[in-house]
Amino acid sequence: MPNNNKIILHAPLAGPQVPLDQVPDPVFSSGTLGDGVAIDPVNDVLHAPCAGEVVQLARTGHALTLRAANGAEVLLHIGVDTVQLQGRGFSPLVALGDQVTQDQPLIRFDMDLVAQHCVSLVTVMLISNGPGFGLKRLETRCAQLGVALLEVEATGNTVQAQAASHESARGHARVAHHGGLHARPAALLRQTAQGFQSQAVLRFAEREADLGSLVAVMGLGVGEGAEVELICRGPDSQAALQALIAAVQTASVSEHAAKPAPLPAIKPSPNAEPGMLNGVCAAPGLALGPLARLDGISLPADSGDNDPAEQHQALNSALAEVRHAIDRDWRHLPRGQEDAAAILEAHLALLDDPALLGDARQHIASGVAAGHAWSHAIDTQCQVLRSLGNPLLAERANDLYDLQQRVLRALLGETRQLRLPPSAIVVAHELTPSDLLLLARHDVAGLCMAAGGATSHVAILARARGLPCLVAVGEALLELPAGTPLVLDADQGRLETQATAQRLAEVQRQVQQRREIRQRQQAAAQASARTRDGQLIEVAANVASAEEAAQALAEGADGIGLLRSEFLFIDRPTAPDEAEQRSAYQAVLDAMAERPVIIRTIDVGGDKQLDYLPLPAEANPVLGLRGIRLGQMRPELLDQQLRALLQVSPQQRCRIMLPMVTEVDELVAIRQRLDRLADELGVTARAELGVMIEVPAAALLAERLAEHADFFSIGTNDLSQYTLAMDRDHAGLAARVDALHPALLRLIELTCQGAAKHDRWVGVCGALASDPLATPVLVGLGVAELSVSAPQIGEIKALVRQLDASACRRFSQGLLGLSSAAAVRQACRDFAALAHAQPAAAAALQQ
Ligand code: PEP
Ligand code: MG
Repeated sequence: MPNNNKIILHAPLAGPQVPLDQVPDPVFSSGTLGDGVAIDPVNDVLHAPCAGEVVQLARTGHALTLRAANGAEVLLHIGVDTVQLQGRGFSPLVALGDQVTQDQPLIRFDMDLVAQHCVSLVTVMLISNGPGFGLKRLETRCAQLGVALLEVEATGNTVQAQAASHESARGHARVAHHGGLHARPAALLRQTAQGFQSQAVLRFAEREADLGSLVAVMGLGVGEGAEVELICRGPDSQAALQALIAAVQTASVSEHAAKPAPLPAIKPSPNAEPGMLNGVCAAPGLALGPLARLDGISLPADSGDNDPAEQHQALNSALAEVRHAIDRDWRHLPRGQEDAAAILEAHLALLDDPALLGDARQHIASGVAAGHAWSHAIDTQCQVLRSLGNPLLAERANDLYDLQQRVLRALLGETRQLRLPPSAIVVAHELTPSDLLLLARHDVAGLCMAAGGATSHVAILARARGLPCLVAVGEALLELPAGTPLVLDADQGRLETQATAQRLAEVQRQVQQRREIRQRQQAAAQASARTRDGQLIEVAANVASAEEAAQALAEGADGIGLLRSEFLFIDRPTAPDEAEQRSAYQAVLDAMAERPVIIRTIDVGGDKQLDYLPLPAEANPVLGLRGIRLGQMRPELLDQQLRALLQVSPQQRCRIMLPMVTEVDELVAIRQRLDRLADELGVTARAELGVMIEVPAAALLAERLAEHADFFSIGTNDLSQYTLAMDRDHAGLAARVDALHPALLRLIELTCQGAAKHDRWVGVCGALASDPLATPVLVGLGVAELSVSAPQIGEIKALVRQLDASACRRFSQGLLGLSSAAAVRQACRDFAALAHAQPAAAAALQQ
């Protein structure tokens, strides 16, 4: 007679068995997570040890739990410490909720990657909801795939988890995140919690949320500055608690950057004027065009007696499709779009959210169609978020709505083909981030929403794309018929809905005028920029790839002032070899026609880490092994890069630049190395060798360095950090890490004077070069090259052309005696206002 309490677990992988107490992770070896077996795998696909349901699947794909027929929860965890790979190298072949058969492939993994980056490949199979199960070992030696390993018998006293027997730790923290625990901070907490075995909950206002669920955390409505309690239960509860406290108390830099830029302070006011709707400016600008509606999906009626298995499967496939699409968008985001990346990451986390999925699956189990079940789950959570009285959290409901629509489109097979009139003003109740990504591919003039807020993710994305956007306009907006000619003056928070032909023509002229100024600046950008008294200022671009270089050339770059070569090295499992580096550098030179390219040698360490080059943990990473110091510790890496650089052609157009130089001997040693490598390669032409001036020591030694360097480029980002002793990524100090500080200006002057003694030129490639207020100052101090972000080339060149270098010299000398960065900034504003007040100068600015 079959015994339903007894199941057999078969080997999920082939390979020798390792005694559980010898697994190199105390969480497993101590048995606290449960009893079972461990295998050192020789194959790369994890198979199901028995039939069952996938009841847990780590988002990072390295572990899953199957619930077997007798209730045993079988945890399969590939490798030790593999959560830190954050999903790289793991491809789940099943989804949460799937019913699997014995031996069905579950997860494919990259054995080389795991072996190189993690403590061990040893994979454990444990019963995680013991002790209500008796285990009998059937095979203890080398396991063959599928061979019977364990007999697991339910003894009738199953417990759900062992949390009760685990240690627990609790502590308090004050929320530092801007706007409280909304989607992105909640996702950060969830990710932090995932790094530990302990279960973590957050308590606020007598309510609790599991940190595994974004919606549950957001649903607590925790505001900025609120105090929360964290409770961790499990074998590593103390460590988890400390990490979570730090995560609650530390607002991330990208979050700081994502804070809306100061916008015109306009409140929605009653729409008193006829033909006028008022709203809140979410992205500034002026636009006009015909109204086009963008509406959500309407679901077909539901009979309510659907087959749950089919509907579960349909929802799983739709979720997988959306996950895949978000992942693809995420991978293709251009560099520097950290805000958009964070939004997509939060969306990915929401797709796995246990509270949302649990709710949807419960409805499916009672016969509801997958689309309705998913919609219902999202609507419920949206209502919770909107009822909290926190505008920022209410806006996060829009992210949920976005996911609702995306999953519904995947379920219903709708692919969105927008048909919009040219230069449309798109109107919607509330647009979602993916709407915006879709709209960005069309000719859209502006955006207008009945709901929404200026801090929503959509607002952040609209600003990044320069699309004028008005939010919180009210429901009256949705009553306007498609095709209505609109004037959207986002700067003033107004939407004109009954503009006369005369008004439309006037706005058209203004829009055209703004466009023409930008176009004129862009057209003139192809020519070099000289000051009115004839001084040539090269305006180059900072880039990270050949594609960005081509774009910079089109924008009028006189050259590349900084190629951050480390971007070729990061986000990949192994270092690029010499041939790959050579062709990447050559591609940048080729993209720049006849213009010079400065390639900075690898600058990792500090905030930029390489997975395949683990550096020792440092108390102060930005004061540790970074920049050229790394090349001294790992000379083979730098030699390989220098060899690649020596082989690009023509060498005359390639300039090599060294980051973080602090003394003359470093430069001399590298020049000697470069000569030796060139001799070995038989290369006679030699690239120029320059130095970044980004630590005060280098600026103070500029005259001595100039004896051996061909040029300097001032890295004002690091120079500010090291001069002012303020972390450049410190959110709380961001406003004070200002490179217009008089101390910085003195160092820049010293650098220019030292370089001039040996006839060397000086550029600036830090962010100060892109700040229009700083242009007269830098020109005045003797800087000959400004390396800026590509879209700003036209504007900076136009500015240079209206300056008088000798007036700039006088002006900048006066700044050196000022008392603070704020005083310098004010003086720069006054100087710019004066230039605008002079008609000749103003006219020149528009050329
Ligand atoms: C700088 O420090 O100003 C600079 C340009 O280098 P990075 O920002 O890459 O450190
Ligand atoms: Mg730097």
